[in-house]
Amino acid sequence: MSMFKTVRGMRDLLPKDAEKMRHAQQVARDLAVLYGYEEILTPVVESYELLAAKSGEEIRQRMYIFTDLGGRKVALRPEFTASVARLVATQLRNAPKPLKLFSVGSLYRYDEPQYGRSREFWQANYELMGSDKPEADAEILSITSHLLKELGLHNYCFKIGHVGILRGILNQEGIIEEQQNHIMQMLDKKRCEEALSTIKQFGASQQCVAVLKRIFETQGKAAFNILKKTEKTVQAYESGVVAVENLRQILMLATTSDKFETLIEPGFARGLEYYTGMIFEAYVPKLNSALCGGGRYDKLIELYGGEPTPAVGVAQGLDRIILAMEKQKTKLKIRKEKRTIVIPVSAEMKTNALKIASVLREAMIPTEIDIVGRSVSKALSDADRRKVSYAIIVGPEELKEGKIVLRNLTTREQQIIGIKNLVKDLKALD
Ligand code: AMP
Repeated sequence: MSMFKTVRGMRDLLPKDAEKMRHAQQVARDLAVLYGYEEILTPVVESYELLAAKSGEEIRQRMYIFTDLGGRKVALRPEFTASVARLVATQLRNAPKPLKLFSVGSLYRYDEPQYGRSREFWQANYELMGSDKPEADAEILSITSHLLKELGLHNYCFKIGHVGILRGILNQEGIIEEQQNHIMQMLDKKRCEEALSTIKQFGASQQCVAVLKRIFETQGKAAFNILKKTEKTVQAYESGVVAVENLRQILMLATTSDKFETLIEPGFARGLEYYTGMIFEAYVPKLNSALCGGGRYDKLIELYGGEPTPAVGVAQGLDRIILAMEKQKTKLKIRKEKRTIVIPVSAEMKTNALKIASVLREAMIPTEIDIVGRSVSKALSDADRRKVSYAIIVGPEELKEGKIVLRNLTTREQQIIGIKNLVKDLKALD
């Protein structure tokens, strides 16, 4: 037994799990094309400064940070948005807007490993740069819902809020951004009481504390009712009212093309600091952790030295989406390729078997060849165990007449057919 195992928090994806992951990635990629998002590939290693700039206390503390051999302080990416924003601030600075960019890949966070949480995980990420209109936020919600639906999930619910409500109130109260970030982190962890007493310490008015208290108590599925109620609650705070109206427009647009369940939570905060507008997460029943997270971040590209560029995006957590698919017993819509194996009956038949295998591969038919010199019966039972569909048995008798034995490993029927027609015959079979 080897002493080596995966590093804590890292996982191997064996063929069955890798197949699910590849499938989810492919569906995400197909949707990117469908909505006009172009795929980019950015590095796993980025400068620490870039990643730390606006990711929020929690993620900052959980980054894999190291110094490379050239003495640079670098980190493994904990999210995609910083890399995409870097690109838009540099190489894509003059690219016509809106820019729609898609990425899929692995991310790294030193989180405490548990069900649905590991230190290496996968996301599909969609970013829409260059529009501050509610249509853009609505599109990001629609893509997210479309992906979950396309992967066969049902009963999913979007928890939605708007950072502008809380920040609007806190700004008007003269609470500086750094203190606001601190409060948002507490709210992300649902530590509302602690947040309220901290807000008092920061010098907020009694009115503010009362308004926030009411906001923290407000949540519900009837989106437009909740928004009406929230608008009333925040009426003394002008930019809070603007934020509520913005959220109303986004939801109106998003729900005209697609119906999905929503849970509106005006006091909802997410760990990432760069959000400026609508924020959301998607959940399914019986899985406590979020499948996806996203929102609007209008200041990040500027912060990286780019042109002021409003932006909105979503990160879909593919590992958790796959867990949700398993929970809901979703059938994978994976097309099973017909697989074949060529088995020479004796050592003399090896070169003929190789020739036949290469003809089949040229025709793009997945073909293995027996490479351990097993007897025909052993090779057949092994192929059967591995769910290969057809065996092509190459023997001297048939070969003399330009033929082989084709065996269906499911029905166990076999027939002798001409090598010339093998590709055509195999393609015609189920
Ligand atoms: P975030 O970038 O924090 O908004 O996360 C977006 C999505 O990535 C979450 O909704 C999760 O599905 C997924 N995710 C984040 N952290 C982890 C983790 N440690 N393990 C697995 N999935 C994660």
